[in-house]
Amino acid sequence: MYSSDDSRIETQAVHAGEQRPGPEGSLVYPIYQGTVFATQPGEGYHDIQYIRLNSTPSQNYLHGKLAALEGAEAALATSSGMAAVTTILHSLLRAGDHLIAGDTLYGGTHNFLTDHAEALGWTYTFVDPHDPSSWAAARRPNTRAFLVETITNPLMRVGRLRDVVSFARAEGLVSVIDNTFASPVNFRPAVAGFDLVFNSATKYLNGHSDLVAGTVAGSAELVDKVRHKLNIYGGTLDPHAGFLLARGMKTLALRVRAQNANAHSLAEFLAASDKVAAVNYAGLPGHPDHAHAAELLSGFGGMLSFRFAGGLGATEAFLEALRLPTVAPSLGGIESLVTRPAITSHAGMSPADREKVGVTDDLIRFSCGIEHPDDLIADVAQALDKV
Ligand code: PLP
Repeated sequence: MYSSDDSRIETQAVHAGEQRPGPEGSLVYPIYQGTVFATQPGEGYHDIQYIRLNSTPSQNYLHGKLAALEGAEAALATSSGMAAVTTILHSLLRAGDHLIAGDTLYGGTHNFLTDHAEALGWTYTFVDPHDPSSWAAARRPNTRAFLVETITNPLMRVGRLRDVVSFARAEGLVSVIDNTFASPVNFRPAVAGFDLVFNSATKYLNGHSDLVAGTVAGSAELVDKVRHKLNIYGGTLDPHAGFLLARGMKTLALRVRAQNANAHSLAEFLAASDKVAAVNYAGLPGHPDHAHAAELLSGFGGMLSFRFAGGLGATEAFLEALRLPTVAPSLGGIESLVTRPAITSHAGMSPADREKVGVTDDLIRFSCGIEHPDDLIADVAQALDKV
């Protein structure tokens, strides 16, 4: 099996975790779809290769590849991004425990906490990930973990992530990060010191908008803890979907670099138009997090958001006129997608709360695909003419 900590992520995406030669000499690791594998008489529970227990050959293969991409000791695939975060939290928190969390979490994660934590006996405090001086006040004797996201939706904010790591270490908390918007190409949280990193692999890791999956990576000890919970809760990824995910991951670096470049070009193009009131992209020097994001990330990502001086009417005219991107609420695939967060990802919030966090009704979120930048910009330009 190829293994090198020194190789670049492009090389690792293709080669890491691959057996040489593979089973029967296969270049591509096959799909072992079997639910169970034969054991020796006398072998016990810990030796069982059973599909829900995440221990069959295709699952082990995928986990090895994921760990290599994350630069982590161990990794695990889950049946969705939500299965990843809920299983992680169930692994770290017991009734009576407290969580510190960033105040701009993905809607599903936010709703999980606000709707379900109380029944589980957990408490939580939302903090501003940009203001380390505010975190100590949130720390309680029963705090166990600190949960943040790398690039937040939809304003593309990047918190003080190095400070999150050092605060969690000093306070004995488990640092957990949702790296979905960045992907391991733009940021490797495990290498930067985060204890647990998870992704909605439905997005960039798979990259083709054709499956649902999640990932968890970190130390062998913590990933093992999550695996035990996952095995009981049952949020296992099926090997067939795992095969597609591994196939998608082989081109991750190429895709994400193209998406980064498209988003950067598009952000600059939009920022130069006097019809555009604001562009949110950490790669632009005017973005409030530009300086520390430039130090932290190796790319600013393929997502941006913006609004027009003409408000909601202009937004609607623009979306109506776009030809290339599809209006759809997901992200991270090879095709460009646009959405209005106020009526999709943030629809569950009250208009007043949305306004407070900057998710205005007219805001457009753009997930850049891998189309040629000139074609993307030409389409955006013709739509801009209709505004
Ligand atoms: N985290 C982020 C940042 C997301 O955008 C999403 C989904 O949109 C999730 C987690 C949940 O992922 P999934 O839909 O794979 O459960």
